[in-house]
Amino acid sequence: MNWLYDAHIHLSDDEFKPDLPLILLTMGRLKIKACCVSMDYSSSGATLALAEKSKLVLPFLGMHPERAGEDPEPIINLITNNSTRVSGIGEIGLDKTYVSDEEGFRKQVSVFEKMLSLAEKIRKPVSVHSRRTLEEIFAILPSYRINGILLHWFAGSKKQLQRSMDIGCYVSYGPAMVYSKDKQVLFSCTMPERLLLETDGPVRFSKCFGQKTAQVTFLPSVLFTASHILGKGYDETLEMLERNANSYLGI
Ligand SMILES: [Zn+2]
Repeated sequence: MNWLYDAHIHLSDDEFKPDLPLILLTMGRLKIKACCVSMDYSSSGATLALAEKSKLVLPFLGMHPERAGEDPEPIINLITNNSTRVSGIGEIGLDKTYVSDEEGFRKQVSVFEKMLSLAEKIRKPVSVHSRRTLEEIFAILPSYRINGILLHWFAGSKKQLQRSMDIGCYVSYGPAMVYSKDKQVLFSCTMPERLLLETDGPVRFSKCFGQKTAQVTFLPSVLFTASHILGKGYDETLEMLERNANSYLGI
């Protein structure tokens, strides 16, 4: 039996709090492990505490571009002091929709670069938010030697997907792939060994998911769609994705 990995979910988000015991129990029963990403200092602490409770939670600590106005030093110290317990750094990245001017974007870039330097130093993978900033991110990434770089919720063009493959990134697709033709096409153009799945919970998804909060239990549907696109069996696809997750995580 193989493990199914959710490569990007915010389990330390307050929205999941009342259901956490049930979520962790379900993850155990369904053999799901989750890369649990953080938004800021306080959710990074909550992620670490959650990982103490369950081995199914792989803690990713970091500063989301939405929070890049805050001081990154406390998070850098938290990660450095817990470097052996941390599975990776994230969610980090760039997103102009959260800033109103060039100065705000420069701050995001500076925080992003600090997080990448730290990942390089402690040799951990990163989970990157790249909404409409793939070009800026492509310009920055080659300066760092990081083995596992995930461009989560990949939403670029086919050309940008090719560039991501050329520089050795992993890309992940989520519940939207179940109903979006565009996502299915991108998925089919991705190198199979760089594919990962995610839910990005507690984001809500439309169509067949009826605007419900994304749960790890959405993953088997995403995996079924993935196996259908690849023309492989469910178990064969699961095995491939587990291999990809292990190599992304460096385990
Ligand atoms: Zn996220």
